[in-house]
Amino acid sequence: MGSVFGVPIRLHFTFLLLLVLLTVFGLNGSESGVMQALYLAMLFLSVLLHEIGHAAVSTRFGIRTIEIIVFPIGGVARLERQPKPTEEFWIALAGPMVNLAIAAALFVYIGNTRGIGAILQPTDDNLTERLAYGNLALAIFNMLPAFPMDGGRVLRSVIARFRSEADATRIAAASGRILAMGLAIYAIVSGQYLMLFIAFFVYLGAAQETIATTGRMLTQGVPVRSAMVTDFRTLAHGQTIREAADLLLATSQQDFPVMLGDQVIGLLSRNLLLRGLAASGPEAYIAGVMDRAFSRVGPDVDLAEAVPVLARSGSCALVMDGDKLLGLLTTENLSEFLVLKQMGFQK
Ligand SMILES: [Zn+2]
Repeated sequence: MGSVFGVPIRLHFTFLLLLVLLTVFGLNGSESGVMQALYLAMLFLSVLLHEIGHAAVSTRFGIRTIEIIVFPIGGVARLERQPKPTEEFWIALAGPMVNLAIAAALFVYIGNTRGIGAILQPTDDNLTERLAYGNLALAIFNMLPAFPMDGGRVLRSVIARFRSEADATRIAAASGRILAMGLAIYAIVSGQYLMLFIAFFVYLGAAQETIATTGRMLTQGVPVRSAMVTDFRTLAHGQTIREAADLLLATSQQDFPVMLGDQVIGLLSRNLLLRGLAASGPEAYIAGVMDRAFSRVGPDVDLAEAVPVLARSGSCALVMDGDKLLGLLTTENLSEFLVLKQMGFQK
């Protein structure tokens, strides 16, 4: 959708689903379509500002925001690394505070222009009032102490002061599931089926958060060297794309370090190989298409810190001790490592 301060902003496909649902059910038959569209656009902007609030505070803690994804029930600012509990507390709080500030500013404006009465007796056709209440609702909903809401993160960071992070996550996720159940039951009893949709997302979000935390705990304190590929093939810098393609077929490897003597000078991924093949044909040299600015990690770096590096670089990072190539860290191998570790396998 574009970017703000260099942070890409994406719409989750379910957001479109919500728009379709809203059109089908019709939020309020008496309203003009233009007003409705304007209100939704302004609400969307409020959600975006909420996420930018998270991103701004995490930047203050030196954590880069990889992207902002907007879901129907709010957004997610994906951070480069998991913040520490105190950092998480402030980052999570920042979003709802933005909505609270917007609501407060709008209420003050309404109070000044049309008197307190206008705030207490809102009408459906007034955009400013609806937006003020909409932002208040966003702030309150997001402060519910359950995953995946911001309130759940605040709760986790507070519990993490007394208990382990695993316990804190479990409690926040459990309250997320309970909230989702409660919402679902209420939706069915009251006939507000749109709320069923929200309940579904809350449940999904709580589960996702648990998985992310489990992944983090499985990788924390584990050196990169125990999850790397040590049995791999390399290419010499004078080889052609044809020879690289042969090796791609003959092995299950997808990323090949390119060597000049015993020095690594590049990394040829499957994608780059195919692109080179399409652009220059099979007889071109791989040195012309390989990635010279490949990602590298040290063998003793914590796996939890290496995963974001891997995520940024694509599917493969080279494990190097100084200039010496020791192995490959690939997403495929990493997931195998995690499955084995979860089953209690120790190397
Ligand atoms: Zn938030």
